[in-house]
Amino acid sequence: MAAKKTINQGVEWNYSPALESTSHVKLKSKYDLYIDGKWVKPQSKKYFKTINPANEEVLAEVAHANEKDVDLAVKAARKAYRNVWSKMAPSERAKYIYRIARLMQERAREFAVIESLDAGKVIRESRDVDVPLACNHFFYYAGWADKLQYAFPNRKVEALGVAGQIIPWNFPLLMAAWKIAPALAAGNTVVLKPAETTPLTALKLAEIIHDAGLPSGVVNIVTGYGDTGASIVNHPNVDKIAFTGSTGVGKIIQRAIAGTHKKSTLELGGKSANIIMDDAPIDQAVEGIVNGIFFNQGHVCCAGSRLFVQEGVAEKVIEKLKHRMDSLIVGDPLDKNTDIGAINSKDQLDIINGYVKIGNAEGAEMYQPKCKLPKSGFYCPPTLFMDVAQSSRLVQEEIFGPVLTIQTFRTVDEVLQKANNTPFGLAAGIWTDKGSRIFNLTTKLRAGVIWANTYNKFDPTSPFGGYKESGFGREGGLQGLGAYLKMN
Ligand code: NAP
Ligand code: MG
Repeated sequence: MAAKKTINQGVEWNYSPALESTSHVKLKSKYDLYIDGKWVKPQSKKYFKTINPANEEVLAEVAHANEKDVDLAVKAARKAYRNVWSKMAPSERAKYIYRIARLMQERAREFAVIESLDAGKVIRESRDVDVPLACNHFFYYAGWADKLQYAFPNRKVEALGVAGQIIPWNFPLLMAAWKIAPALAAGNTVVLKPAETTPLTALKLAEIIHDAGLPSGVVNIVTGYGDTGASIVNHPNVDKIAFTGSTGVGKIIQRAIAGTHKKSTLELGGKSANIIMDDAPIDQAVEGIVNGIFFNQGHVCCAGSRLFVQEGVAEKVIEKLKHRMDSLIVGDPLDKNTDIGAINSKDQLDIINGYVKIGNAEGAEMYQPKCKLPKSGFYCPPTLFMDVAQSSRLVQEEIFGPVLTIQTFRTVDEVLQKANNTPFGLAAGIWTDKGSRIFNLTTKLRAGVIWANTYNKFDPTSPFGGYKESGFGREGGLQGLGAYLKMN
């Protein structure tokens, strides 16, 4: 919804709507499971609806896979691994991965629109971030498929076998790419389960995989709820579990596979610190704060959700930040003017609103710009909480929404102590003019990824992952490839 804007001259003006067209999008009304190169009806006979969180309209019905369906998918993946994929020349495997990337690129617009429809994310981001990065992951790993000996010199490398992969709803296609591309490049076959609120781009990816002529059973896509994920985790014939999602489910998975032969990587939650030193370029830092927390409605595992500002510049930073927030447009994800789209689900909106209530009950000072929210759909305005204690639940727990806490600090030691004092360790950001300050802080912050004078930058060549309750293992780069290989 285009908000009314006031520019300095006192003239009121509005953005005209700039809606992305949906006419080129092809969605079926009902999706079956993609197993062994075919669309098959679920043994469970059950389907569930996926909706557009921007207006609560049903987009499609999707199969709910049960244990028997997962068993069929694992059997298909095992057969494809044994008979075809492990025997194929790596350079041939590379061609298939490359073909997936090219086909996805050709249909990039359709993928971007479907991602926005199903997940509520703004079209500018799905078009410029999610889909291109997903393509790039396939391109990047296609390049490694026939060079594993060079990637890991003096090691004897071998695929693991069948990889079970479970992904969340915040970057549905991108997370599927992060999982499938390195698994295939390393010579594994795959059973992947997308999240229940965002299954559509994974199902479209199955169409592309089919069009690419990938041998049957190399990639199987099974949709469903948490129980479908659990069936993959508990299946005895899966060799690796690659999971991205909440720390709570990550712990369940770790317990479930303890004592088995299964390897695992867990990419879990975060509560990342974004630190503004007093010598930082303030205007750029404010843009970095906005990008850090409001990108993708704050549904970002590495969101810069805890802002630390050095006392000398705190007043100025907060004033500029509030001013910038006043200009953010909350509304229809398909409008190219929109900055903050829909919250992914009613459940997630309830969680976020629950934290807003806690913040108010704790007496923290809240700021939300006055913006009109659409009447249907799930929306949350960008929100700041100031005067929060280090012990506040808002500071310690992952909110996974457009809610930022602000704390001030005087010394480097103080900010290091506070920044490291959460159960998580996924990412951090530092804004300063001095290289020596950057090096000092990056060596002492306990976070898997640290950005300096930027935030939320991703690239397939660079590994991503966390410490502590943010999980273990890395995705992206050579590390992401190694996670799908036995090395002797
Ligand atoms: P979630 O509830 O843990 O769900 C993640 C996936 O696991 C979904 O496909 C879910 O299915 C499935 N699942 C649920 N219960 C399961 C079980 N017992 N066994 C196996 N699978 C199960 O997480 P989410 O709410 O979708 O995603 C948000 C979380 O992901 C946040 O904590 C965020 O920080 C994290 N995340 C981390 C990274 C990273 O790289 N570190 C990246 C993105 C997101 P349903 O959809 O049916 O519940
Ligand atoms: Mg949906």
